[in-house]
Amino acid sequence: MMRTRKYILEPAIISITLLHVGHGGDLLNQRASHFLLHWFSRYEHLFMRAINYLAMRDWVHRLKITKRVVDRISGLVIRNINGEILTLEESCKLVEKIADSGYTIAVGTCPCRRARNQMSDEKPNNTDMVFGRWAEEYLENYPGLYERIDKEKALRLIKVFEDYGYFHQLYGWSFPQDAAFVLCNCAPDVCIPLQAQRTRGYTSFRKGRNTAVVDEESCLGVEKCGICMERCPFGARYEREGKSIVNTEICYGCGLCVSSCQGGASSLKRDSKRELVFARMILD
Ligand code: SF4
Ligand code: SF4
Repeated sequence: MMRTRKYILEPAIISITLLHVGHGGDLLNQRASHFLLHWFSRYEHLFMRAINYLAMRDWVHRLKITKRVVDRISGLVIRNINGEILTLEESCKLVEKIADSGYTIAVGTCPCRRARNQMSDEKPNNTDMVFGRWAEEYLENYPGLYERIDKEKALRLIKVFEDYGYFHQLYGWSFPQDAAFVLCNCAPDVCIPLQAQRTRGYTSFRKGRNTAVVDEESCLGVEKCGICMERCPFGARYEREGKSIVNTEICYGCGLCVSSCQGGASSLKRDSKRELVFARMILD
């Protein structure tokens, strides 16, 4: 299986990716083929539906053989296509730079919501913010579902998503060139990669370059407040002597606990051991 993956599967994927290579500009590095962009964007929700099915069915993970197959598939997907966590500030800076460089920005319905048929009447559904050639594909494939937006609207939306407790991740493809495609603004109860990480232990995301820290003196206490514990999508907050503490090993640096901290006790600290991959061309 290892050999099949190394010598057949991955080279085949890379070849398809490189077919008819276009040039999307330097900042986003989007040099994937039109073939790949078109078909992936057209059927992304079906792809997500399949992942959701495989991740959520207990029988798949009980049987050794099916578990092994699913583990291999998820490993392949995660190695090549995944998202890195960004803070609100980083997301805004990213969008500003993308817009100022003249790339198209579009927003449309979250593919996880479409895959799970989980539309909300109370919370935003249109949280999938796509860029450049990827955005052009979505606008062409889903004229009623995606709309072209300007920088101001994009920035406004990101702040609204943050208020709703949605975390931000820049999705990209590692092959062949670490390219950035979409800023997913993810509702924790809808996000399929997060559900797969929580229930099956897959590492669905790259950590951001920050970790949260708490000034315990300023923390109002979990009983009185505790908002950060509810907001943390990664379960990185825990209680110690009535105060909210961060488990830095599993903190992804999303910053949701910081923007909502009632006592001004939480902040983000840059971790020198962590680096961005897809956003590194865009953020300093
Ligand atoms: S949100 Fe801030 S003040 Fe409230 S429990 Fe968490 S760290 Fe403490
Ligand atoms: S502790 Fe804060 S920064 Fe870390 S993952 Fe949780 S919400 Fe995000």
